Amino acid sequence: MTERICLLGATGSIGTSALQVLRCNPERYRLASVCALRQADKLFDIIKEFKVEQAALFDVKAAAQLRAKVKSAGLKCGILEGESGVCQLAGASHDFTIAAIVGAAGLKSALAALQSGARVGLANKEALVMTGQLFFKTAQEHQAAVLPIDSEHSAIFQSLPESCQRTVGRCALKAHGVEKILLTGSGGPFRTRPLEELALVQAEEALQHPVWSMGPKITIDSATMMNKGLEFIEARFLFNAGAEDIEIVIHPQSVVHSMVAYKDGAVLAQLGRPDMKTPIARALAYPERIAAGVEPLDFTKLEQLTFFKPDFKRYPCLKLAIEAGCAGQGECVILNAANEAAVEAFLKGRIGYPDIARVVETELNRGVPPGFNPHSLEDILALDARARRQAAATAASLGERH
Ligand code: NDP
Ligand code: MG
Repeated sequence: MTERICLLGATGSIGTSALQVLRCNPERYRLASVCALRQADKLFDIIKEFKVEQAALFDVKAAAQLRAKVKSAGLKCGILEGESGVCQLAGASHDFTIAAIVGAAGLKSALAALQSGARVGLANKEALVMTGQLFFKTAQEHQAAVLPIDSEHSAIFQSLPESCQRTVGRCALKAHGVEKILLTGSGGPFRTRPLEELALVQAEEALQHPVWSMGPKITIDSATMMNKGLEFIEARFLFNAGAEDIEIVIHPQSVVHSMVAYKDGAVLAQLGRPDMKTPIARALAYPERIAAGVEPLDFTKLEQLTFFKPDFKRYPCLKLAIEAGCAGQGECVILNAANEAAVEAFLKGRIGYPDIARVVETELNRGVPPGFNPHSLEDILALDARARRQAAATAASLGERH
């Protein structure tokens, strides 16, 4: 039977990899719905190729352009617009939804996908970082399965026993003999750069990741290792893990995508090329395996696999994220919002590279407002907006000195 797929963030890096996996398996999947922010021409090409039934663009002007193009090409595809259009599309009936919008912008549509009861493949880690318990409460209420797409979390998922795979969000790690989750990360492009030179780093250089090819926001997060910090929080929620259950290990070659250590001394790992098509295919087809168009790993061409402890002086964002993850949901919301604002300012050349951590720390120091309810979406969105606004102001004042 053909499965109906919804792809949120179809024009992005994960979206493009997901389309390649779908192309490899046309008899199994039908791309029914797609959305993006404003790239109307790119979305039009996808609609045409996959004969998509429904599409949405967040940007209303871009949606009007897309509607006109679809009409003049004689294609039958409904075009929705705005945030409500994106959420309506995400909440419609699908077998599987890939949540691959970047940042907090993807939160409401990810929740709408869970409410539709679809299986949800989660790439948009920020949505989970912001909502944690609310995310899994929504999934449980609507019997929506959550499957990790982030490569490390896919590796952990694959290294856990089946009963944990079937209970993502509430698995009992200790009862299954799990000693530790070993969360690996490449360390980014500045792993060996002298610390005093980090102040000179420009956006163009930070956008050159040594191993992975990804969208701009996550590429900067990988350089600062904020990405690993967000993934630490993501892993805690996905695998119901305590802070002490997770160890972060730098592994520059990105061949081992993460590991699970058991109490008898065994360590299970998932290895592969640094190619997001593998975790996307794993989530889509679970529990089966499908072709993903990925070259096999040639072990005879691997020179070495190395592992290091992260240095918090080099990666202050990683430390801030671990602390926020241990402090509570409000701190996670602030961390994520402040980071998004800081990364945007850095990408626009307004602040220096070390200022990203300064902006985030300043915002975390303001604390969570009294009465904040981590189970209330309204409270989460209000705190996100506040932290984002204040972080942008902090970035602007740091920028004057930059
Ligand atoms: P990109 O920047 O490449 O793509 C983002 C996508 O989201 C685009 O399709 C963009 O549309 C769309 N989008 C942005 N804002 C909105 C909005 N308000 N409404 C609807 N669509 C929107 O990001 P990535 O693909 O790199 O990352 C996506 C997510 O996956 C992130 O959360 C990231 O952390 C996670 N991830 C990514 C990995 C990777 O290898 N890239 C690896 C692991 C996780 P448009 O093109 O029109 O701007
Ligand atoms: Mg990752």
